[in-house]
Amino acid sequence: MDKVKLGKLNVISIYIAWVFLALLITSLILLIISQGLGLLLFTISLGGLLACAIIHGILGYLVRCPNCNKCLTVQGFGKNFHYGNRFLVGWSYVAVRWFSGSVQCIHCGVEVNTNKLK
Ligand SMILES: [Zn+2]
Repeated sequence: MDKVKLGKLNVISIYIAWVFLALLITSLILLIISQGLGLLLFTISLGGLLACAIIHGILGYLVRCPNCNKCLTVQGFGKNFHYGNRFLVGWSYVAVRWFSGSVQCIHCGVEVNTNKLK
């Protein structure tokens, strides 16, 4: 599979993970009202979140910056290339901007065309 498709699948897995994360928080609130329903939603959202995390873990390591060869959506704990507000422009910002066609590498700062990844 080419890197452009892998990149899209990677960020879609992140988007779905965010939905499951929101559902997980909702389920905790729901647990107060209805234990049965809350527990069901908790189990589904936790399973979905873990599944997405595994998918993103695999795909995230395959989608790399053409300049520095580091993972575009995996920030890690090392020092990153900061531009603008460092809290707003991490890996999640890259994920949000992915379908705009151009993202800035969080490691080296180079502009990466997400529709021409090799
Ligand atoms: Zn880079």
